[in-house]
Amino acid sequence: MIDFSVQRQNLIGVLKAKGISNPAVLEAMGTVPRHKFIPRELRNQAYENIALPIGRDQTISRPYTVAFQTSLLDVKPGEKVLEIGTGSGYQTAVLNALKALICTIERQKDLFDRTANLFKDLDIYPLYCHLGDGFSGLSNYAPFDKIIVTAAAPFVPPKLKAQLRVGGRMVLPLVSDHTRQEQMMISITRESEDVFVTQEYDFFSFVPMLKNIEGF
Ligand code: SAH
Repeated sequence: MIDFSVQRQNLIGVLKAKGISNPAVLEAMGTVPRHKFIPRELRNQAYENIALPIGRDQTISRPYTVAFQTSLLDVKPGEKVLEIGTGSGYQTAVLNALKALICTIERQKDLFDRTANLFKDLDIYPLYCHLGDGFSGLSNYAPFDKIIVTAAAPFVPPKLKAQLRVGGRMVLPLVSDHTRQEQMMISITRESEDVFVTQEYDFFSFVPMLKNIEGF
């Protein structure tokens, strides 16, 4: 069985060269076996800095995107993090390696089921995996220290803002121009009950955040 550790360390080198410097994020991504989160026939590409298909027209994000977004999130051990868009589970696994307590929401049942099984195989135990709509968040588990949205949001979901702890931060790719394939990565820090401070970063490409899928 190939363990891909050399390829994984090479990828960490690529991320550093592209400007990722957060040591905890680099260390976490250096431990998570990305090849286990993608279809078997694509495993030889697992440690290239590219997005890959995971079924249902969805993708596992490019490693640089995961590293950038996770660096902005700045997760500390023990923090409660809400992830929107479980997908392959790779981002969840990176948050798990950072010792976050994770709640994660996925909209599509087949992806949800497959990834829940994978978490068991890999000994990853999120606080809660939810099959449902990320626009609603997870009020039973709120407030969250951090919220990460891993699909392109058409607007900042108001319920997610409401579920952010004062002092907490949300990071999401926001559709800023509908003619553009890419979205602006933004962070929103809740400075007080009513004050939210937004910062804008680079453009990234995500699959859209979906509403009104059959069954919901
Ligand atoms: N974090 C994932 C990224 C997967 S792509 C990974 O590391 O692989 C985005 C995921 O968001 C897809 O699985 C898609 O089904 C899911 N998604 C899209 N709209 C959603 C919504 N409204 N609520 C929850 N999940 C959603």
